[in-house]
Amino acid sequence: MKRGLIVEAICRQPRVLRLSEACIRPQERSYFYLIETTTRSCLIDSGWGLGWTITDLPLHVSDRPVTAIATHSHVDHIGRLAAFSDRLAHAEESAVYAAPDHEATQAWPYLEGRQLLNEGDGQINLSTYEIAPAPLTGTLSDGDVIDLTEARLEVVYTPGHSPGSISLRCPEADLVFTADVLHAGPIYDNIPGASRAQVLTSHERLSSLDFAYAAPGHGPMLNRAQALARMTSYRDLCGSIRLPTNTSLA
Ligand SMILES: [Zn+2]
Ligand SMILES: [Zn+2]
Repeated sequence: MKRGLIVEAICRQPRVLRLSEACIRPQERSYFYLIETTTRSCLIDSGWGLGWTITDLPLHVSDRPVTAIATHSHVDHIGRLAAFSDRLAHAEESAVYAAPDHEATQAWPYLEGRQLLNEGDGQINLSTYEIAPAPLTGTLSDGDVIDLTEARLEVVYTPGHSPGSISLRCPEADLVFTADVLHAGPIYDNIPGASRAQVLTSHERLSSLDFAYAAPGHGPMLNRAQALARMTSYRDLCGSIRLPTNTSLA
């Protein structure tokens, strides 16, 4: 199995890197982000946790503390969360981080029979694939600000894809990290814990923020126009889906 991380620099000052896992098929990769400043680093999500360890993180200075933030508790975003001693996320999904079983992390049935690894590397065996428990060491709420000295991360509560999904805006990098609530591909709003109505509300919130680029959990980076267009296309699609009578969107 191919080891290591694929690294793209998306901002020079502050230093922001977009990471993904080399062993995962390109179309199945999740993206996670490393922000390094002179005092502290922050890792937003940690992929599937396959083919790399904490020492593979491309840090300039490796002895500064690294705070790990989870945008939500799905299997493809929390694979290495337990490796960090400082673990932050929204309280709404705190029970899942503490006990990340296949059902709670949406690994089941998502992983069953799905070809995640590169050709020739076989398939992930669900009976042996486990995510280590990573109880949160602190919780994040809407409006919280994580101060990284040369950069800040503002917490924006954006539920809908999952009940505790957060986005993080970094004004110094002109970026918003949107994970799975906003990306170019299909936005899952019908899985356990998801709510289409909340995704729509979260999109309204994201639309009102100041950012030049959205850094999502899947697919390409989106410039502001692309991000706004994606939210419009999602809303239009929701509007065209006929719901049975007496069924609320929530
Ligand atoms: Zn997700
Ligand atoms: Zn995902």
